[in-house]
Amino acid sequence: YDDRDGFIWMDGELRPWRDANVHILTHAMHYASSVFEGQRAYNGVIFKLSQHSERLRRSAGILGFDLPWSVEEIDNACNAVLAANDLTDAYVRPVAWRGSEQMGVSAQQTKPHLAIAAWEWGKYFDEEKAEKGIRLDIAPYRRPAPHTAPVHAKAAGLYMICTMSKHHAEKRGYDDALMFDWQGRVAEATGANAFFVRDGKLFTPTADVFLNGITRQTVIELAEKRGIEVVEKRIWPEELADFEEFFLTGSAAEVTFVSEAGPWNFAPGAISRQMRQDYDDLVNQRVVNF
Ligand code: PMP
Repeated sequence: YDDRDGFIWMDGELRPWRDANVHILTHAMHYASSVFEGQRAYNGVIFKLSQHSERLRRSAGILGFDLPWSVEEIDNACNAVLAANDLTDAYVRPVAWRGSEQMGVSAQQTKPHLAIAAWEWGKYFDEEKAEKGIRLDIAPYRRPAPHTAPVHAKAAGLYMICTMSKHHAEKRGYDDALMFDWQGRVAEATGANAFFVRDGKLFTPTADVFLNGITRQTVIELAEKRGIEVVEKRIWPEELADFEEFFLTGSAAEVTFVSEAGPWNFAPGAISRQMRQDYDDLVNQRVVNF
């Protein structure tokens, strides 16, 4: 991804894509003092942009480095990156980190840095596969307990086990992995939240030890507008046998159907399709009469 034309916003200015570099002694590189965001632009409009900028600031704050850029400044920088790269439909990736001003576990003297890149990124999962539903392996790692990691920050360090779980799944022929939480309850996929359907109702794991996704919150709102009951609860793996439909939600993944998770099978049905359509209409600024 480093050898391209285009511009990346870095610490207040647009730089040529190839020159958006950091030093090897960047604290984040050694100690994972980094947080990030991911959002999509549709027809030139970044969906829920300020919510993503707010979460970025909140994530950095949780890791102990407050960003000197306001939500409005981050929003403006994201839009400037789209314009500079002549993009209207794109994925936008802000990343903030502790710099190379100090080495060692203690990093009080490091400065917070912020960069924002954007590029065209089609569907997160293969579209043909996603039509029938993608296949999930069961991850070898569990999401960490809330007293072992800052589980509500979108922190790079939390993604180590996601990449390892995703690679493990891909090597076994699956598209992604379903992760359980530290107590063995259903949590989420490696980069998206989970929703299930049973008897006309939506079920989703309580977001107490993992990211309460912006897409997750959006889908809950859309379901309520449709009069579909949404139940947030702790879900044990055994309960998966009783669910008829399963889909994932995320800014990158959008609404993606799941056909299989370990030994459990699902098929996209009316509610999954309705949620995918409503999300698609909303992000593309189409007016829907509920
Ligand atoms: N969980 C994880 C681990 C993620 O990486 C993401 C993507 N940011 C989500 C859930 C979904 O979050 P959102 O809907 O805010 O993109």
